[in-house]
Amino acid sequence: MKDFLSPELSKKEQWQLLKQHLEYAERNSPFYKKLFKAQDIQIAAIEKESDFCRIPITTKEDLQQQNLDFLAVDYGEIIDHVTTSGTLGNPVNFMLNEADLQRLTYNEYESFKIAGVTKKDVVQITTTLDRRFMAGMAYYLGLRKLGAGIVRTGSGLPGLQWDSIARFKPQFLVAVPSFLLKLIDFAQQNAIDYRSSSVKGVICIGESLLNEKLEDSALRKRIKDLWDVELFSTYASTEMATAFTECKFHKGNHILPNLIYTEILDENGNPVENGEAGELVVTPLQVESMPLIRYATGDMVMRIEENCICGRTSGRIGSVLGRKKQMLKIKGTSLYPQHIQEAMNTLGISDYIIEAKNDEFGNDLVILKISEEVKLSPLEIQLKLRDQLQIKLEIQQLSASVVFQKKFPKESRKPVVFHDLRSI
Ligand SMILES: [Zn+2]
Repeated sequence: MKDFLSPELSKKEQWQLLKQHLEYAERNSPFYKKLFKAQDIQIAAIEKESDFCRIPITTKEDLQQQNLDFLAVDYGEIIDHVTTSGTLGNPVNFMLNEADLQRLTYNEYESFKIAGVTKKDVVQITTTLDRRFMAGMAYYLGLRKLGAGIVRTGSGLPGLQWDSIARFKPQFLVAVPSFLLKLIDFAQQNAIDYRSSSVKGVICIGESLLNEKLEDSALRKRIKDLWDVELFSTYASTEMATAFTECKFHKGNHILPNLIYTEILDENGNPVENGEAGELVVTPLQVESMPLIRYATGDMVMRIEENCICGRTSGRIGSVLGRKKQMLKIKGTSLYPQHIQEAMNTLGISDYIIEAKNDEFGNDLVILKISEEVKLSPLEIQLKLRDQLQIKLEIQQLSASVVFQKKFPKESRKPVVFHDLRSI
């Protein structure tokens, strides 16, 4: 197994890893060879951050349009073929060789350690390990390295999840937070004493558990009100191949600086001040098959430089405030779909989707499509949301089954709450 420096590395050590990564990409990546040549960038001459920032940003479109140019090893060396989730546009192919799988293993091992999972624990993975999903396999590999017990239930199937919890007594679950609401609902309907179960913590993926002030999001409060388990927020993506994970103090997701170099940039590409929001731009370090440099994630996040109460000094990022391309402008107010989701969580409503379209003048038109089974009337919801968001949203009722089909499309690995049909 490859050795990795500890996450508590110095700035100088991280810079060395970054330089090695740039040199590796310059030697092996057809995409970056071309880019550096076209931009007249000499990696050997990069000595400080301001030199590094001259390298152009890599975008998702670059990855989509020139996918194979990013491959820096022989195709035959690839072991795991996966795709990105395709939240914005078509999914992109991603490939990992042996060294990348070892890196992924180490990444998730560190991530579980931050959340306090130990060798003695049993962890039930309620996400898929298949369907071209990198994260499911990463959890499995990380837990293998940790030596913990693993239950692979996969996604959905609340009955199987509770049966497995009763049989194997896991202390932790890996789960999408809104799936926990489904699990609780199933337990309540089937007289399962879920509050006395063995589960004490959940490693959560895909949904924000912190709000902009680093306090518990409405979703976290909603789950905790029903089930007293400790929820750990994580943030990751296929392109980053690295997880950011909350410790037991729940004040932002810890960065693993030995695996990823992070920048948070404003609209003009300049670094934001500590505590301000900007787009997360990443350079995942020590990746061999598809190295990326200054990859724009499209996620708007906040950086937290202060040392954490847990003693880690490597910085954290707050939860994802929204995706840059998903920003909505409604009568002069800018907001992200996450703001609407947060407000809906305070009302305890899950069965809905948000649809954005253009009106005849090209303005954003946002329609909240709720299930007919939601107890509050559309007018009541509209008024309550107006109090929280200062905007009046159009609300339509649909049958519960149509809302379910739209929210859980067959081809998707996670719920799709926001449907962006805007053309501009
Ligand atoms: Zn901490």
